[in-house]
Amino acid sequence: MGGSLKEELGVLDGDSFVALLSKLIGESRYVQNNPPELVPQEDRVVRHLLDALAPYSKEQGGPLLLNHASFVEGRGNLIVEYPGTVPGKVLSFVGSHMDVVTANPDDWDFDPFSLSVEGDKLRGRGTTDCLGHVALLTELMKRLAQVKPELKCTVVAVFIANEENSSILGVGVDALVTAGLLNKLKDGPLFWIDTADKQPCIGTGGMIAWKLRATGKLFHSGLPHKTVNPLELAMEALKEIQLRFYRDFPPHPMEKVYGFATPSTMKPTQWTYPGGGVNQIPAECTISGDCRLTPFYNPIDVTKKLEKYVDDINNNIEKLDTRGPVSKYVVLEENLTGRLHITFDEDMKPGVACSLDSLGYHVLCKATEEVVGYVKPYSITGSLPLIRELQDEGFDVQTAGYGLMSTYHAKNEYCLLPDMEQGFRIFVSIISRLEEAAN
Ligand SMILES: [Zn+2]
Repeated sequence: MGGSLKEELGVLDGDSFVALLSKLIGESRYVQNNPPELVPQEDRVVRHLLDALAPYSKEQGGPLLLNHASFVEGRGNLIVEYPGTVPGKVLSFVGSHMDVVTANPDDWDFDPFSLSVEGDKLRGRGTTDCLGHVALLTELMKRLAQVKPELKCTVVAVFIANEENSSILGVGVDALVTAGLLNKLKDGPLFWIDTADKQPCIGTGGMIAWKLRATGKLFHSGLPHKTVNPLELAMEALKEIQLRFYRDFPPHPMEKVYGFATPSTMKPTQWTYPGGGVNQIPAECTISGDCRLTPFYNPIDVTKKLEKYVDDINNNIEKLDTRGPVSKYVVLEENLTGRLHITFDEDMKPGVACSLDSLGYHVLCKATEEVVGYVKPYSITGSLPLIRELQDEGFDVQTAGYGLMSTYHAKNEYCLLPDMEQGFRIFVSIISRLEEAAN
């Protein structure tokens, strides 16, 4: 074969990419994910991908193996495979998803549901997260099928349904794993293409949503000595709980290595109470919040500790700080004791720390440095669903993306064509490097 693989595969065909992206963004209204009102119909996106790729399928005499894998009607996934010559050599691009978060056109400066182009900006819901990547990887697989280089590694792209709602199982990547359809991807690096800013994202946060309910007794606020004020109880208890949390889950030394901006945190974000007059002490209130954990702490350990703190405070409630001379949490003559209850949202997510000594990481860094000019891996305490499960299943998961973090899940979402062009070159560089490594 003449020329290097890199030269053969070339650069992104911008016109073709924008034309495909325009079709995909045209479907974004119908792939908004917010059930029960908005259930995405990912097959509307799959149809466009098949239009682009089916002419190169095995059935049509081409090299691509296409598997439209559906577990729920109208909500398919698409696995696209370009076969290599050496069994067991594989690399995959997974995680580019065909659903989007909702968009309210009233809040946007342009129509979220149709692609608009302004200079280098490609604008619309899903351009960054994640239809831009869906179009980009489709262009990559099409290019492989057109050029037909002889590769040792099999290259696989997996476009998934239902990424934006990880509480519903059995639709997207979890179902593909359960069905065994991704098994062979364990033999090589798996690049999860759904982040932003062109640099490897090597760590993500875990999340626990919690509710702390404090109960007292509804009473006239002119007679505060005769009741337990649940607002005071909740505030003091939360302060104590936070102090203990930060003592038990302090900054972890690995956070510096991974470049996390913050250590693990536990804080309130919402407060509710049943209502009533300003001259009434309410019977109860609830403070809600979250814990954001770096991947070096386990959410199960954290919830156990939080429960223990609450038990401890309940058992020693008269020792908790009060607020002024008549504030108290036990009123003997009324046979009343303030109580705390903590509960957790079922949808807990563990964090992810990508392996920093795997082949996948090494190759992603080298390819990024080559194309972008530098490599600066980063971590976020936001959470990416699903990839921890893949890691636990034995996949070498690395994550990257070529949209813009600042527009992720935001209004006026856009991405930049030159960034996507760099993304394409990074994919090509990854493939070339893994081919060399396969010798
Ligand atoms: Zn995404």
